[in-house]
Amino acid sequence: MRVANRKRVLVTGGAGFLGSHLCERLLKDGCDVLCVDNFYSGTKDNIAHLMGNPHFEMMRHDVTFPLYVEVDEIYNLACPASPIHYQWDPVQTTKTSVHGAINVLGLAKRTKAKILQASTSEVYGDPEMHPQREDYWGHVNPIGLRSCYDEGKRCAETLFFDYHRQHKLRIKVARIFNTYGPRMHPNDGRVVSNFIVQALKNEPITIYGDGSQTRSFCYVEDMIDAFVRLMNSDDGFTGPLNLGNPDEFTILALAEQVKRITGSPSEIVFKPLPSDDPVQRQPDITLARKTLDWAPSVRLEEGLARTIEYFDRLLAKR
Ligand code: NAD
Ligand code: UDP
Repeated sequence: MRVANRKRVLVTGGAGFLGSHLCERLLKDGCDVLCVDNFYSGTKDNIAHLMGNPHFEMMRHDVTFPLYVEVDEIYNLACPASPIHYQWDPVQTTKTSVHGAINVLGLAKRTKAKILQASTSEVYGDPEMHPQREDYWGHVNPIGLRSCYDEGKRCAETLFFDYHRQHKLRIKVARIFNTYGPRMHPNDGRVVSNFIVQALKNEPITIYGDGSQTRSFCYVEDMIDAFVRLMNSDDGFTGPLNLGNPDEFTILALAEQVKRITGSPSEIVFKPLPSDDPVQRQPDITLARKTLDWAPSVRLEEGLARTIEYFDRLLAKR
């Protein structure tokens, strides 16, 4: 029986970078938020400011084990996202994606909750289609260093669509492209946090390869807005849906921009390119514009400035 008026929302991976921003947004929207996390790559610091809120609850739990709670909506974000974190324990990464998906889908089936999966542009692998559209099946190495993440996420998508077809679950699958902003882990090795921390410490900025590879960077606030819009979209719409900022930059251009905004004297150095590193990545967001009436609004320069401010404060505290 449902007594509360507030929507009860579960966010797995809620103590992570995106999860903590999502919890904050859902609380602002008047939801009761249950944050589940095993702190593999997330931290209590990310959610400390929410702890006093009576509508926020934190549960330490690993999604590879079943979870019995009563909820109306589920955002499944649990999974390390940075290559350093997900390659640290690749077997656990695949388990988190696959067993985690089975457990949260089972929960959605029992509670009849609507469920959103945080999938990734990595399902496209090293893409041969540019920009990437949702109907592209991808170009993924099944046995490489990134495979635990890429194939785990691909299998999770399969499970979401099979639960939808077989059990009529209301699903939403978001394919998230590179997102950045405050609360990224300073040591997670992702390019935006790495470059900013290196620049602020006046250490060399490390470009892997020659810096000609491209990425398209979306500011966290825009991404969270898209998550909520997708969850609220018509029940007939499942995705998969590309979410990201289509403005594409080379990694060298990103390094130069970080250097300019921070005014750092750091030199730019070139290191070997990791294996299977995608050469280019840019979302085609035509479908998101149409179905969600959504497009990112924060430009890279502005988003970088806000992120730099965050890391500046964080490093000063340490
Ligand atoms: P993150 O590492 O900051 O957050 C992931 C959270 O999941 C962490 O708090 C971690 O402790 C938790 N977690 C990991 N394994 C778990 C488990 N077995 N049980 C419970 N909790 C677990 O990463 P993020 O950038 O916030 O990414 C969130 C989601 O979005 C991930 O699913 C990721 O694959 C997806 N995504 C992110 C990006 C991006 O650019 N940030 C891009 C594509 C997809
Ligand atoms: N990269 C880099 N220097 C760094 C960290 C990353 O040149 O210190 C490169 C990396 O090789 C990749 C791009 O930046 O080409 C984006 O890396 P990230 O790990 O942030 O995301 P992903 O490769 O998963 O898109």
